[in-house]
Amino acid sequence: MSYLMNNYARLPVSFAKGEGVYLYDENGKRYLDFISGIGVNSLGHSHPKVVKTIKEQSEKLLHVSNLYENPWQEEVARKLVREFHAEGKVFFSNSGTESVEAAIKLARKYWRDRGKNKWKFVSFLNSFHGRTYGSLSATGQEKFHRGFEPLVPGFSYAKLNDINSVYKLIDEETAGVIIEVIQGEGGVNEAEENFLKELQNLVEDKKLLLIIDEVQTGVGRTGKFYAYRHFELRPHIITLAKGLGGGVPIGATVAVNEVAESFTPGSHGSTFGGNPLACSVASVVIDEVKKLLPHVNETGNYFKERLKAFGKVKGRGLMLGLELERDCREIVKEALNRGLLINCTAGRVLRFLPPLIVKREHIDEALEILGSIL
Ligand code: PLP
Repeated sequence: MSYLMNNYARLPVSFAKGEGVYLYDENGKRYLDFISGIGVNSLGHSHPKVVKTIKEQSEKLLHVSNLYENPWQEEVARKLVREFHAEGKVFFSNSGTESVEAAIKLARKYWRDRGKNKWKFVSFLNSFHGRTYGSLSATGQEKFHRGFEPLVPGFSYAKLNDINSVYKLIDEETAGVIIEVIQGEGGVNEAEENFLKELQNLVEDKKLLLIIDEVQTGVGRTGKFYAYRHFELRPHIITLAKGLGGGVPIGATVAVNEVAESFTPGSHGSTFGGNPLACSVASVVIDEVKKLLPHVNETGNYFKERLKAFGKVKGRGLMLGLELERDCREIVKEALNRGLLINCTAGRVLRFLPPLIVKREHIDEALEILGSIL
């Protein structure tokens, strides 16, 4: 009998410890981790610098709330803005969905502050932005909505890579567009370069805010610190979480100054958001990830090329998907039996999100296991 609510289809394994790209179950069996807690353990497990930071910071101060000055947030914010394309400011939360909620609220407030009745958003079919009501409403997949209606009004869903479908959904009341440059949960679907160029023109033309959800793609995952920087995009707001804390929960919403100014004392907040523990770790993760970017590109390309032997490969850097002709859930179970952790998304796409420290030899090991199954 379990006392847990039954909302996860969990695989029958429980891990006792992790080191680098490997996890070990309770019996000591070793697993190659190619999912990293869904893109979270960016530096792998038990990274010495992360462990040291947690130890040292927990001996000093875990939490103080946002009633007081927070130099740890200042430091992480400075580092995040340095990677942004413009001057900006940061709001800290604890998860992806919260970073998206903050983005939605900030965008609406920006227009309200200017006396404009612009409150609607266009997002995309097969997108995923989170499970709380705002981000769930932004999510363009009916299966996540079912049973939870009515959703937040004002969201509509265009087709990825079809700019006309975006134009059709825009009216006088549209506040902005929210997009993942690579849809993660939706099946590792890449937005095309040309489409993104058109989208950038569209938001400038129609005076809309561009929100890029970098919860899964951000913090080095695709080979650039932010995935949108592979393209000529100038978002007003981006959202981050997952890999930013290397396993410690943290979310961040980064906005250009003009937009960021719409959050004023009392307008939005979070008790835990950006606490000293989370921020001290995020600061170390950012430094380490920046050093790893050439490695992510190089290893990602190697992985992608080798994966092509098995079928259609999608994604960039170390965010890759292998599209199969059949349901991939059984493959995930078999891979688990053989000591490889991968994930199946959108039914037929095997998703790979290994830690950014993964080496060629680990990729070879993973492909050997995968090859033996496929
Ligand atoms: N946005 C994107 C692009 C995601 O991939 C996810 C989670 O998978 C979220 C938002 C929600 O993040 P969280 O589960 O931390 O709330």
